[in-house]
Amino acid sequence: MITVTNVKKNFGKLAALDNVSIQCNRRECIALIGPNGSGKTTLIKSMLGMVVPDSGTILFNQKNIAHDWKYRKHIGYMPQIGRYPENMTIGQVFDMMKSIRKDESIQLDEELYVEFGLDKLSDKRMQTLSGGTRQKVSACLAFLFNPDVLILDEPTAGLDPVASEILKEKINREKEKGKLILITSHILSELDDLVTHIIFMQDGKLKFHKPIDALRSETGEIKLSKAIASIMLKTTP
Ligand code: ADP
Ligand code: MG
Repeated sequence: MITVTNVKKNFGKLAALDNVSIQCNRRECIALIGPNGSGKTTLIKSMLGMVVPDSGTILFNQKNIAHDWKYRKHIGYMPQIGRYPENMTIGQVFDMMKSIRKDESIQLDEELYVEFGLDKLSDKRMQTLSGGTRQKVSACLAFLFNPDVLILDEPTAGLDPVASEILKEKINREKEKGKLILITSHILSELDDLVTHIIFMQDGKLKFHKPIDALRSETGEIKLSKAIASIMLKTTP
């Protein structure tokens, strides 16, 4: 579904992405993990066309994204930090997004909007929202147009445990429908019961990309955080 081949991106002298290649398929729920500054956000922004790689190619359903931006309507994106017109209300932000896409015969998915109780906050202006409520707005927008692919950048950061559980259940339901889900996170325990694959990045390099079962059986660890720690100890001299 998404094929990244030999992608490089430098910011000045810094190699934010250093020859990264990965294949992401339908039905996978991939956790993109790595320390701060390891290139996770840059990688997903490259997939979204928001960062243009210096070299390498990215295919979406076998088509090079550099020549066809229309693929983006298949992706729901939840940014790490959502930026919105601050004096609009929540309701106005959603109406604006819907009107931008109104020509399409898409079945809107407002499940999360109701589960998070945003319907009751629709008159609140964006500038007055807490970080957690802002995160909820970003999450709901990512799912709104029922996309085939969900790219969620640190989705549970800033959410309270109840909201975080609601979001995890929503992610799981969408995964069951056969969608591709890519989640970046540094909080591993949160993802244990969701993910099928782990991609670990460090210093802009892809350290490993493995199915979760393989990771667990290779390391003998059930807990994701322990399995990753164990494999990191083996791979770093
Ligand atoms: P992560 O999401 O894993 O924390 P990022 O992809 O955000 O990491 O950043 C990777 C590196 O690239 C960091 O060192 C960051 O400071 C740098 N970087 C990211 N975006 C830019 C930018 N637009 N300009 C300059 N440096 C950037
Ligand atoms: Mg990031």
